[in-house]
Amino acid sequence: MRKNIVAGNWKMNTTLDEGVELANDINTLLLANKPNCDVIVCVPFTHLTSVHGVIDKEVLGLGAENCSEHEKGAYTGEVSAAMVKSTGAQYVILGHSERRQYFGENNEQLLAKTKLALANGLMPIFCVGEVLEERENGSYNDVVSSQIEALFSLSPEDFGKIIVAYEPVWAIGTGKTATAEQAQDMHAHIRKVIEEKYGKEIADNTSILYGGSCKPSNAKELFAKPDVDGGLIGGAALQADSFMGIIEAFN
Ligand code: PEP
Repeated sequence: MRKNIVAGNWKMNTTLDEGVELANDINTLLLANKPNCDVIVCVPFTHLTSVHGVIDKEVLGLGAENCSEHEKGAYTGEVSAAMVKSTGAQYVILGHSERRQYFGENNEQLLAKTKLALANGLMPIFCVGEVLEERENGSYNDVVSSQIEALFSLSPEDFGKIIVAYEPVWAIGTGKTATAEQAQDMHAHIRKVIEEKYGKEIADNTSILYGGSCKPSNAKELFAKPDVDGGLIGGAALQADSFMGIIEAFN
């Protein structure tokens, strides 16, 4: 059966020392209060190796926030999936709306990144979600379907390794959260789209996380929905206490 997961996305925040301290604090709290879900921190590339050195893999997973669509070579400034894997990370966020919006990442590139992540033993946390205009004009289900369908050339075995994160772009960092009903409706839609392509077993086993201004005060209501299997957390993942407050929504 699918896992419940709370993953933090630190984005471009924290210096190395601050990041190591934050990871250490989260790790200590998790060792003292065993979580009822998997917990992951996705951190800047520069922090991966050091954070890996201070966390206990039994309670805290580690991920990057992106990787290159190229395997290796003359791509100055890029970081490959193999490099991420070599730090000890197990996960990588792909297709975050900030990557799609500010860096123009498209479906073709995201498929290439996903394939390289999988080939290097990383589990992708693949983000999908509509912008405000698409929510308001009613096209949101179709938009999200097409983002998921971009991965449909993957084998069932590979698709089965993917964690999906539904992040309505209008809710990211805005303080506006989708209602628990809006989240449930979209998560059920995503699961149906996966089922139509890959069958019920894979669909039922895919963890689908909600992201977008999730915090301790709303996590319980969101996570109580049957198709919401946890959260991808931005701002509230930058303090150990608020991140723990979200993790505790599963208690
Ligand atoms: C995110 O960027 O993945 C996110 C969910 O951010 P926030 O929680 O700050 O809305």
